[in-house]
Amino acid sequence: MADGEGAPSASASANAAGQDSGNKLVIVIVGAGLGGLLAAIGLALDGHRITILEQAASFGEVGAGMRIPPNCFKILRRWGVNTTYLKKTHSNGNRFVRYDNGALLADMPHGVPELDFGGSYLMVHRADYHTVLLERALELGVVIRAGNRVEDYDWDVPAAILQGGETVRGDLVVVADGKATP
Ligand SMILES: Cc1cc2nc3c(=O)[nH]c(=O)nc-3n(C[C@H](O)[C@H](O)[C@H](O)COP(=O)(O)OP(=O)(O)OC[C@H]3O[C@@H](n4cnc5c(N)ncnc54)[C@H](O)[C@@H]3O)c2cc1C
Repeated sequence: MADGEGAPSASASANAAGQDSGNKLVIVIVGAGLGGLLAAIGLALDGHRITILEQAASFGEVGAGMRIPPNCFKILRRWGVNTTYLKKTHSNGNRFVRYDNGALLADMPHGVPELDFGGSYLMVHRADYHTVLLERALELGVVIRAGNRVEDYDWDVPAAILQGGETVRGDLVVVADGKATP
C-alpha cells in the first residue's frame, strides 16, 4: 500500500524540517459532513494540520431545513464562520401542533435570543450551512480530498485505508462518517 499524500511525520513533535512543532498534530478526518467540517475548523484553529477524506466526488443540494440554536451560533461566530450572507430566517419559537388536525398543543416563544442568550436562533437549509462551513475550512488550510472513500482503518498506526489501497496516516484519525459508522 502507498502512503497517503501529506502523510504525517512519525512523531507529532517533529515536522518535515525536523523542527519542534510542539503538540500540533496531523489529523485525518473521515467525512466532510457537518460534523467533519466543524471538527476540522475547531482543530485547524488550534493549529493542527487537517486532511478530510470524503467519499462524495462533489457536494450538492443534500438535506432539508435545519435549526442553528444560539449556543451553536455563538461557536460559529467565535470560529469565524461567516453567516452574513447565509440564506436564513430567524426562529421566534417552537409551536407543537397535532399532526391530524393542527390543534395547538404547546406554544414556546424564544423571546429575543440575541438578548436572552447572546446569539441568534437561525433556520437554514443544510446545503447552505454546509457551504459556509466548507468555505471556512478551506480558508483555514484544511485539505479536502473528495472522491476518496475510506474502506478500512488501521488503529495501531493510526490510519485510514482508502478504496484502492492507499493508506493515509495521521497522529489522530477522527471518524465523522455520520450514520455510516458500524
Ligand atoms: C431529520 C433530521 C433533522 C435534523 N435537524 C437538525 C437541526 O435542526 N439542527 C442540527 O444542528 N442538527 C440537525 N440534525 C442532525 C444533523 O443533521 C447531524 O447531527 C449531522 O448531519 C451529523 O453530521 P455528521 O458529519 O456526523 O454526518 P453527515 O453530515 O451525515 O456526514 C457524513 C459524511 O461522511 C461521508 N462518508 C460516509 N462514509 C464515508 C466513507 N467510508 N469514506 C469517506 N467518507 C464517508 C458522507 O459522504 C458524508 O459527507 C438533524 C438530523 C435529522 C436526521
